[in-house]
Amino acid sequence: MTEQELRKILYDSGVKLLDNNLVQGTWGNSSVRIDDKYMFATPSGLDYKSLKPEDMAKVDLETLEWTGRLKPTSERGIHAAVYRTRPDIGAVIHTHPLYGSIFAAARQTLPADDETAAIFGGDVRVAAYGLPGTKKLREGTLKAMEGRNACFMANHGVLCCGKDMDEAFETAYMLEKACREFIEKRVLEFTGETEYSEELLDNWFLKQPH
Ligand code: 13P
Ligand code: ZN
Repeated sequence: MTEQELRKILYDSGVKLLDNNLVQGTWGNSSVRIDDKYMFATPSGLDYKSLKPEDMAKVDLETLEWTGRLKPTSERGIHAAVYRTRPDIGAVIHTHPLYGSIFAAARQTLPADDETAAIFGGDVRVAAYGLPGTKKLREGTLKAMEGRNACFMANHGVLCCGKDMDEAFETAYMLEKACREFIEKRVLEFTGETEYSEELLDNWFLKQPH
């Protein structure tokens, strides 16, 4: 694949993440591997829809030095570390989705079942907390990703990867669906009802001792 094609795939991924509610505003970031030395990464803090494929930064996987008009994502260290340690991975996505962020805030592992184990590689673990863009976050996230295609980042969001952007996106999408289904199932168990609604959740929550 040419660099121009990879830039376009990365640009499209940002718009798709927004359109599917997997990120809000400028949050989250994604990257694609170019080869064993470089990746393209989305720029930091900018609206995905205002970008162009040419705006994607080219980043050295070892030194994190970059070229391009715009500074790459502040999480470039995590993206590069995944490519360095996992040669099978061609795309990485960091999302801030609604249900995945509930798991991240509750520091709750998503248990594996047959379907989710096939997609995520097992249970989806929670990485130790670290401030955004820090070595601590990078190291905790890499550990939680061992043998997995996804993890939660405590009090923050989600990281997913795949052999290419289609697979990484599918993983991010399926994880959000699995988190939503898990939460809805738990609400039905707690309430004894058979049909989920947000109203049911709100009413149950308001009845709890605080
Ligand atoms: P960037 O805008 O620098 O990619 O950061 C967004 C984010 O989600 C940080 O964790
Ligand atoms: Zn983030």
